[in-house]
Amino acid sequence: MVRAIVGANWGDEGKGKITDMLAKESDIIIRFQGGSNAGHTIINDYGKFALHLLPSGVFYQHTTSIIGNGVALNIPYLVKEIQSLVDRGVPKPHILVSDRAQILMPYHVLFDTYEEARLAGKSFGSTKSGIAPFYSDKYAKIGFQVSELFDEELLKEKCERVCEIKNVLLEHLYHKPLLDPKELFEELTGYRDMIAPYVCDVSSYLHNAIKEGKNILLEGQLGSLKDPDHGIYPMVTSSSTLAAYGAIGAGIAPYEIKNITTVVKAYSSAVGAGAFVSEIFGDEADELRRRGGDGGEYGATTGRPRRVGWFDAVATRYGCRIQGTTEVAFTVLDVLGYLDEIPVCIGYEIDGEVTREFPTTAKLEKAKPVLTRLPGWKCDIRGIKKYEDLPENCRKYIEFVEKEIEAPITMVSNGPGREDIILRK
Ligand code: GDP
Repeated sequence: MVRAIVGANWGDEGKGKITDMLAKESDIIIRFQGGSNAGHTIINDYGKFALHLLPSGVFYQHTTSIIGNGVALNIPYLVKEIQSLVDRGVPKPHILVSDRAQILMPYHVLFDTYEEARLAGKSFGSTKSGIAPFYSDKYAKIGFQVSELFDEELLKEKCERVCEIKNVLLEHLYHKPLLDPKELFEELTGYRDMIAPYVCDVSSYLHNAIKEGKNILLEGQLGSLKDPDHGIYPMVTSSSTLAAYGAIGAGIAPYEIKNITTVVKAYSSAVGAGAFVSEIFGDEADELRRRGGDGGEYGATTGRPRRVGWFDAVATRYGCRIQGTTEVAFTVLDVLGYLDEIPVCIGYEIDGEVTREFPTTAKLEKAKPVLTRLPGWKCDIRGIKKYEDLPENCRKYIEFVEKEIEAPITMVSNGPGREDIILRK
């Protein structure tokens, strides 16, 4: 059975924790999009980890962790991330990398940085991991596929061709040092040796695994609202964050994805720029940010303070729908225990009219939140294992959200650890 674990919002919903937890019952965990630009925080018996490129299944010996063809593969970063786990006592995970994955090049990081500097105040808030230049090159057909590392003649010729294009921009747009095709070729030869032990025809591997009835998890990065097509364009990421893309980014049939578990957070948080209707500011925000997540709402990759706000039912209902959600994991609920009343955004007011539909970006920028308030439960719910044992107001909050988002909440996460989970049905 193939199950996708994806986010309904702006990312940081707690997908890492849910994936790590579900990985226990799985055979294979695959990253199908994105790169090392976002992080998953996982707390388990080995300690606390922020994974950026590896799937969140790497802590189990019985699982195979796969980097699918849809990922932006930063090879030195991957090797370093594997080593950092081993250094902290995690047994070396079993890892495969698709021979069709494309390689995030050192110049992608440079171009990302140069472009952010050029845009200055108008930048997209990129993490400068090279993701946008990487995907641009992939679709402009000047990307390097892992398989190409193993053909020296082709590689040499391609290095020349790509440097020619890149150097025009470096010279005339950014006024930066030029790339040398010979140096680039040498670097890629190093990459080839690093990645060789992991390379695999992943699509074929998965085809067989599905036939054998293996349990497979597709792990998404970020969330619905960062999708380049269905999110808050242009403040989005450069690869699709939707479960549907899991089929493409892993190389399996779309109808094999039987379960789409969408992770939804009990309040809102976002990093980077872009419309955020239910955002809060000042002391109210500082308090939520400080109590939020595990040790505060700060980006796992960048350490940037996250923007925070109340639960947004409009954005989340849309986020769940566009994912094709079959069930919801509702996370970080324990954090809200300090509030007397909990505001929830149930509509957007745009030009004097209230809507429950999530609009396109220009309209979204004008939206004001329509809030309702639910009574808080004023206690710590960590450690509770059964749904019935949750305080009544807490259950009412969950059931209110469930009705609003029109998708069944089957898991409630009440702490950052593997065991902090309440299964509902
Ligand atoms: P991801 O990118 O979706 O995996 O999310 P992140 O890992 O970036 O952010 C989620 C944060 O919330 C991390 O710090 C997790 O340890 C933490 N977390 C996940 N679930 C819970 C929960 O139920 N309660 C609390 N307090 N923290 C949680």
